[in-house]
Amino acid sequence: MARRGVILGGGTAGTLTANRLRRSAGHDTEIVVFDRDDRHLYRPGLLFVPFGMAPPARLARPRARQLLSGIGFHQAGVDRVDLETKTVALDDGETVAYDVLVIATGARLAPEKTECLTGPGSGRTVHTFYSLDGAAALAGAMARFQGGRLVVNLVDLPIKCPVAPLGFCFLTDWFLSRRGLRDCVQLTYVTSLDGAFTKATCNRELSGLLKDKGVEVATEFATGEVDGEGGRLVSYEGREVPFDFAVVVPLHEGAEYVGRSEGLGDPLGFVPTDDQLQAAKAWPGVFVVGDATHLRASKAGSVAHFEGEILVHNVRRYLAGEPPDARFGGHTNCFIESGFGLAPLIDFNDTLDPVTGRFPGPVSLPLLMESRLNHVGKLAFEHLYWHVLLPGRPGESDRNLSSSEVDDDDADLCRARGGARCRGVLRRSPAVERGHGGRDRRRPRHP
Ligand SMILES: Cc1cc2nc3c(=O)[nH]c(=O)nc-3n(C[C@H](O)[C@H](O)[C@H](O)COP(=O)(O)OP(=O)(O)OC[C@H]3O[C@@H](n4cnc5c(N)ncnc54)[C@H](O)[C@@H]3O)c2cc1C
Repeated sequence: MARRGVILGGGTAGTLTANRLRRSAGHDTEIVVFDRDDRHLYRPGLLFVPFGMAPPARLARPRARQLLSGIGFHQAGVDRVDLETKTVALDDGETVAYDVLVIATGARLAPEKTECLTGPGSGRTVHTFYSLDGAAALAGAMARFQGGRLVVNLVDLPIKCPVAPLGFCFLTDWFLSRRGLRDCVQLTYVTSLDGAFTKATCNRELSGLLKDKGVEVATEFATGEVDGEGGRLVSYEGREVPFDFAVVVPLHEGAEYVGRSEGLGDPLGFVPTDDQLQAAKAWPGVFVVGDATHLRASKAGSVAHFEGEILVHNVRRYLAGEPPDARFGGHTNCFIESGFGLAPLIDFNDTLDPVTGRFPGPVSLPLLMESRLNHVGKLAFEHLYWHVLLPGRPGESDRNLSSSEVDDDDADLCRARGGARCRGVLRRSPAVERGHGGRDRRRPRHP
């Protein structure tokens, strides 16, 4: 009898996992994906929508069409998981049994958890680009904005793509410069972190870029209230940042059903997991991938992609009656749009900060420095996402870390896959070595 692999969530992680499993597992494994809606969103494109660089309609595609033939798609919400009986209850009344369960239901926005964030100012003076509707509405508001105090606020981690709010600041600087309004705008980045980013080397580079672009930074600001009518961010300690226009990245939590499923989640609804992506050792056959995990790795599509490789290997071993043996080392990479047609690319893992050098591949992209090539790479990634990454095609998107970043576990996996791909240069830039400020940081000219 065919074993059944049930995948909860048909977003980035669920789709690429399903397709990779279909390619590698035999047809004695039935694969079914469940999602509550039929709109697969290319989320990195949300960053471009407010600046008129991406039409919202282009970013969404039907889910079933992203799945290889032979994979079932069932549109229904997950109501709860019963780990004892190995079943999933759906909100359409059906109950589905599984042999292997992959949880890929991501992270959800929880604006209701911040006082007044969904209040009267929402959609007028307070916006977000973290949802498709929000980004589309923000496009109109940005086009109408004539000047004043604009704040970008990261309420707290974890969030999807922790560099996206910084990218938003940089693109705002570029967008307003292009419209001749930059001098009429006080642009402030307000973050709960103690710097622009969590990784030290990256923090130095990005803080320098913010400074060069005249973006003020308020750190360690624990937003307690977003008062859209009064035009104030208020922290739990009583600090205030006034604004005329706020772009807020709200708190994130795991899917709600996780909290209803005994033994599955942590208090925020994320799913605890080990580095083999098993949700809990007590429940063999339950795996978790992507934003739904409680891992300290960034919540990013690239992470979902690298995790997917580990996950599929371990699921296949589990189905073959062998113990999982591949481990995820936190590999993450991300382009950061910095405006004026430029972007740095960062690449790091749990044990190594972002490094300089070149990302291995035929187009060797520069790491941790602004370049036009990276910006073009970021734009081209949309095509790669739909046609290489999501279908789970082996190839360019599988390129691994530069050797500088390969920890033992990644190196093992890399060797197992023919380690020639693991090459690169370990070299920190002189500016990073001696601390920020060693570089000419004049604002690039308008394109
Ligand atoms: C503005 C923005 C920019 C970004 N830029 C980048 C970038 O440049 N690079 C990068 O690597 N990453 C980026 N990301 C992050 C990336 O999009 C996510 O990390 C990635 O989508 C995570 O994939 P996932 O499958 O875990 O979650 P998702 O893609 O969110 O998928 C989760 C799925 O689960 C479904 N679901 C949830 N609850 C239920 C339920 N109860 N029942 C049924 N289905 C359910 C949802 O409908 C959804 O389809 C960005 C994100 C944002 C918001």
